[in-house]
Amino acid sequence: MDRAGLKESQEQNHGANAPFLLPFFLLFLYIYRQFLRLGTKKDSYFFAFMNTYPKSHLKAAALLAIVLTIVITALPAHEKPERFTTPVPLTVVKETAQPTLSESASDAKPAALPAVLPAVLEEPIADRWEKVRVKPGDNLAKIFQRLKLSPAVLQQIVDLGPEVSTLRKIMPGQELAFQLNLSGELLAIHYKKNVFDTLVISRREGRFSANWVQAVPEKIIAYETANITRDQPSLYHAGKAAGLSDNIIMKLSYIFQWDISFALDLRAGDSFSLMYEQIYIDGEKVKEGEIIAASFTNMGKTHDAIRYTDTGDRADYYTPDGRSLRKAFLRDPVHFSHVSSSFNLNRMHPIHKKRMPHRGIDYAARKGTPVLAAGDGKVTISRQNNASGKYVVIQHGEQYTTKYLHLSAFANGVKPGKTVRQGQTIGYVGATGWATAPHLHYEFLVNGVHRNPRTVKLPKANPIHEDEMARFRASISPVLAQLQSISGQSLASAGATGAGE
Ligand SMILES: [Zn+2]
Repeated sequence: MDRAGLKESQEQNHGANAPFLLPFFLLFLYIYRQFLRLGTKKDSYFFAFMNTYPKSHLKAAALLAIVLTIVITALPAHEKPERFTTPVPLTVVKETAQPTLSESASDAKPAALPAVLPAVLEEPIADRWEKVRVKPGDNLAKIFQRLKLSPAVLQQIVDLGPEVSTLRKIMPGQELAFQLNLSGELLAIHYKKNVFDTLVISRREGRFSANWVQAVPEKIIAYETANITRDQPSLYHAGKAAGLSDNIIMKLSYIFQWDISFALDLRAGDSFSLMYEQIYIDGEKVKEGEIIAASFTNMGKTHDAIRYTDTGDRADYYTPDGRSLRKAFLRDPVHFSHVSSSFNLNRMHPIHKKRMPHRGIDYAARKGTPVLAAGDGKVTISRQNNASGKYVVIQHGEQYTTKYLHLSAFANGVKPGKTVRQGQTIGYVGATGWATAPHLHYEFLVNGVHRNPRTVKLPKANPIHEDEMARFRASISPVLAQLQSISGQSLASAGATGAGE
């Protein structure tokens, strides 16, 4: 209760006390008269006045006064609290004041303001924003209903046309903000479709208009270094420990998928560094961009990769001397994230058949894990036998052949004579043939002879075109310097180059 209401109630309370005084006054007169009769001042004016009233009258009046006192003191017990709890006049003031305010706000005529009581001025004057989270089964009409906005206003919004058609597809969990004036009329709607795009509908001079507002993203380069250790034996574990997202870890694995077997060849002591983009909007990280450069030291050998966008606007990763990282064969025909870590950790082959000379590599993975073609080629065999189970053989050019054994199933269209692309799924891990547990047995042959695909010399990837080499060097040199400084590699050679120039 504020001051105006309290004052009102107190005044009413004073009025209620007045009837109490009359009976006490009459009682006093009666007692006083009796007292005077005993005294000597019978000639005083006052006594004469008192004698004009018969004694019986005063007696009756006194009696009446006592009864009245009892009755009246009993009655106010009901009335008093009511008067305190219902300051009716205040409510009336509020209700009449609000329309005055809202009219002045919407018509931009603040002249009516001084007439408002001080108590009301403490109430918020500004328009309000109502945030609405879209519920399952919601649509714009239901939301308008909840906000007590008329169907006519909804129609005005819908009539804005294709600009607002996105409002028909609002999804549960999304948020809309409605700006309403104090009489509940719609002034604006903000709909954040995604972190970048916001639809702004606003009313000006009684008409609505819609337009899209694009947030300006800010790119920040993040640097990270991580180590493969006994406790973090995989790219995934080490990446997570360094605070990398799954997305960046996957991107990193794809950059080096031709050079490093993340499934089988990581060792404690390996390390990696990378520079990647983080996208911020209004100071808030909204997503990650591309890896700009990365360096991976695996079993003592360092692989550098730098992103370069060529004059044809194609972006890819290159070594510092301008060779593409893409090669004819993937290191692992099963993505490392599917290969069981115990297998990786123990560095041993759990399935080793004495009856069959082991001339390949085993990848322990769950049944159904996709098996990828290591390189572009042509399927020569896809069938089943006792030892190999379901298996696929792919011919890559004149010299190279790859074999994939113990599959649970072939991928669609993987038949003799069909061409396949590098990375295409050709089948699924299983335990068909001589296998006691699901795994992929992978073989790599050069001119018909089994070779270790991880050590065999393979043709180098094509370098960047000569015409573009100068542009490439100029573009990568600052990035390369940063990469080498964060990975702590070849500082001596970098320093020497700087001194020489
Ligand atoms: Zn095997």
